[in-house]
Amino acid sequence: MIYVAGNPDAYPLEYYDPVTGTYQGVIPQLLEQFSAQSGYQVVYYAPGQTDQRSQLAHNLQVDLLSGYTQDDQIPGGDEILLFQAICQGQEHSYYLGATAVAPESLKADLTDFFSSVPQQAVTGALLDAAAIEPPAPSVPFRAAVGVALALAVLAAAAVTAACRYRKKLQEARRELTHDKNTGLGNRSRLERYYQQTVDDKNRILYSLLYFYVDTDHLRRQAGSQEINDILRYCADVLGNHTAQTDILAQTSENSFALLQFSGDPKHIQAWAGPVLQKIRAYPAAHGKPFAIDIAVGVYPLAMGSRELDEMISYARQEALRALAAQKDILFFTRDSLNRIQLEQKLRATVARALDSNEYQLYIQFYVDAQTHRIVGGEALSRWFHPEQGLLLPKVFVPALERCGLIDKLDYHCLRSSCKFLQELCDHGICDFFLSCNFSRDTFAGDGFVEQCKQIIGAFSFPRELLIFELTESVCTEDLAAIRSNMLALKEYGIRIALDDFGEGFTSFSDLQECPVDGVKLDKGLVGNVLTKKANAILRAVIQVGHEMGLTMLAEGVETEAQAQALQAIHCDVLQGYHFYAPAPQAQARDKLLAAAQPFRR
Ligand code: C2E
Ligand code: CA
Ligand code: CA
Repeated sequence: MIYVAGNPDAYPLEYYDPVTGTYQGVIPQLLEQFSAQSGYQVVYYAPGQTDQRSQLAHNLQVDLLSGYTQDDQIPGGDEILLFQAICQGQEHSYYLGATAVAPESLKADLTDFFSSVPQQAVTGALLDAAAIEPPAPSVPFRAAVGVALALAVLAAAAVTAACRYRKKLQEARRELTHDKNTGLGNRSRLERYYQQTVDDKNRILYSLLYFYVDTDHLRRQAGSQEINDILRYCADVLGNHTAQTDILAQTSENSFALLQFSGDPKHIQAWAGPVLQKIRAYPAAHGKPFAIDIAVGVYPLAMGSRELDEMISYARQEALRALAAQKDILFFTRDSLNRIQLEQKLRATVARALDSNEYQLYIQFYVDAQTHRIVGGEALSRWFHPEQGLLLPKVFVPALERCGLIDKLDYHCLRSSCKFLQELCDHGICDFFLSCNFSRDTFAGDGFVEQCKQIIGAFSFPRELLIFELTESVCTEDLAAIRSNMLALKEYGIRIALDDFGEGFTSFSDLQECPVDGVKLDKGLVGNVLTKKANAILRAVIQVGHEMGLTMLAEGVETEAQAQALQAIHCDVLQGYHFYAPAPQAQARDKLLAAAQPFRR
């Protein structure tokens, strides 16, 4: 029995195939033939992704070391030259090395074998190994003396292909543009590397890993600078665990993608566990009270998609699902495909639902904190599903966001809200303001401002009656784009309110960056207004808000005691079940029209 330590990274001469858990390529195939002819049983020792040749040679655990070059610092023992070629001016040689424990006769037998290998065997091995470019006649090479002579042209071609492969890898890496914060390459660079290295023959050997860091959640406890530090740390940890054969990129502000030379879920899982653990250890190591929520979604390229964007999107969906289920890692499977098809169904029915008025506008009134008079309301969507009945936003809003269809609903809601305001104005009520919710994706989407202007422009009510509500986290990401949309809308006369404020303790310095007119204090905080601590926070927030000229609104007011406490700390406007629950728009309109001025409960 002859044990060989393989080189996992000398594609296509020799490389590790995680699907079969074996070494593949030209050298293993030739050694197999050698084994069949010579009677030696040749076995690769502990095949795996990591290069263990040095260690195995040092421990004398193997007889042969495979696929090493003059650059490898491996104590080889007796060298048997396999291939030698000059590739773009540089000489490259690949050797087999016989260690001190190799049987005496082995070297001579190998020498005999390699000098007698028929050309067809090499051709076959090369064809099997991978898509190797045909030997370019212009590439200078010289057949090696001794044992490698018989391999002649095709062997040199293999070396040339290996050189080119390595060179491509290096070039692709060198050309990466770097993220300012983490120093990693971006999505388009990943695309380029993918195009250069993955093809139909080797794609099943790769998986795409998508790392999602929940910065939205982090922002509730950490500042922007700290989040940058964390993302840099994530990039470092991932970079330190990225093998030579893989490439790591930053696909968005809070996500990384790793194209990994591995198709084995067990291997990926074993690899990812310690990496995530290391990342999650950051807060404890730095004495921070928060936790880093991170999860991985994996798209095995064997699943069939060829578009990198699609693969990233699939892997991302799995990462988000993993995060929601508090799991480390989820793989894209047939079930994932079925789920996506279900969402496509939803996609198909959304248009129908919008057309047939299945989405309906509900209004929840706001009252003045001092007088309890109705001063305005919030537009909230409800879906009257033909089969499932009344659905609340928590069911359909996230689904629509996932499908990229939330803008359709948001624009529909805006249009209905405008109609509502117009009808009131037409009846002489021109001081009732109405706020509309917009998902972040809608607000940051292409042509958002234009689309809104087109909808609102068809009506004549005073524009300042319309308030756009954006959730707090919107104001901490992609600030530049969000800000410019906010400014454009304000210029058009729309007012902006920051929703759910306090849920994540956005700092006032972040708030200063956002040109908002009002702040809605989150119901989580408001619900605790009777406790000393929350009361102190709310009092301070309201005071600072007023100093900044903002209108301060409290949502989720459920009791008279809460209403009084909020009044005492000078909150301007109140909303909650204690006053009014959301009601169908027709009912809300009738109430407003029927009530004599001033509106009273
Ligand atoms: P939100 O903007 O925070 O809206 C307030 C939510 O609190 C509403 O839930 C409302 O019914 C509920 N609420 C009102 N008063 C009280 C109270 O006293 N106590 C408690 N515990 N809750 C109260 P709803 O209608 O289920 O809406 C949930 C979320 O869905 C909204 O949260 C809003 O962010 C979103 N949403 C609703 N309609 C739309 C829409 O058309 N587009 C988008 N993008 N999001 C929408
Ligand atoms: Ca809202
Ligand atoms: Ca809210």
